[in-house]
Amino acid sequence: MQLQDLLFTQGFGTRRVCAGLVQRGFVALQQQGDGDAPARWLICDDPAADVQEDGLRFMVQGQAWEYHRHAYIAMHKPAGVECSQKPSAYPSVYSLLAAPLRQRPAKGAVQGVQAIGRLDQDTTGLLLLSDDGQFIHRMSSPKKQVPKVYRVTAKHPVSDAQIERLLAGVVLDDDPRPVQAATCERRQDHVIDLTLTSGKYHQVKRMLAAVGNRVEALHRSRIGGLQLPPDLAPGAWCWLYHAQLESLR
Ligand code: URA
Repeated sequence: MQLQDLLFTQGFGTRRVCAGLVQRGFVALQQQGDGDAPARWLICDDPAADVQEDGLRFMVQGQAWEYHRHAYIAMHKPAGVECSQKPSAYPSVYSLLAAPLRQRPAKGAVQGVQAIGRLDQDTTGLLLLSDDGQFIHRMSSPKKQVPKVYRVTAKHPVSDAQIERLLAGVVLDDDPRPVQAATCERRQDHVIDLTLTSGKYHQVKRMLAAVGNRVEALHRSRIGGLQLPPDLAPGAWCWLYHAQLESLR
């Protein structure tokens, strides 16, 4: 692929802007050293240079990047941000992403990366984002029932009877069909880990309210087999690779 086209696909601007970045010497490509020699960065100022995209690491104006045909991202969502492109009261979760991720050119209906499902403004934890429409569809489909694990800190101690009711199923106000937790494990008097395979609006908060308790803090720790990476600080994001994506299947 030509270097200017590659930069365009990765969200560094129009083809014209990308060609300009290359011509002005703002783009370097990582070259693997021979044997044990460290990798080196070499400036490439030819926009039409043919580059091998798979595994390519490059730098644009000092920002190190790696080529990904599709972007699959895990973010540690902090409290106080909204999972919306047009937030109403708090900053958008998208403002925490590097600009190229937001600017990736449209593929089908998806422009830039999109959050897969939403977490409330005050919920923290694992949020997935992607620009792969099929992946977004698959992960958000109710049929797929990807288990999601939430750590719930409740206002009142969580009783055995409340745990039994969460597992047996509770009826929420918008649907006569009961929703139930796939698992519910007490960690401390006020703290439980709840696994859900459905994703209704405010589901955890409404389920706790339905059994006579109240959510004080909510954190999503896992989606499918993917744990929130322990070294990912609140507000930070990382790329997901093949093995991690497989764990979401
Ligand atoms: N359930 C909720 O109530 N809120 C969330 O953010 C996620 C699940």
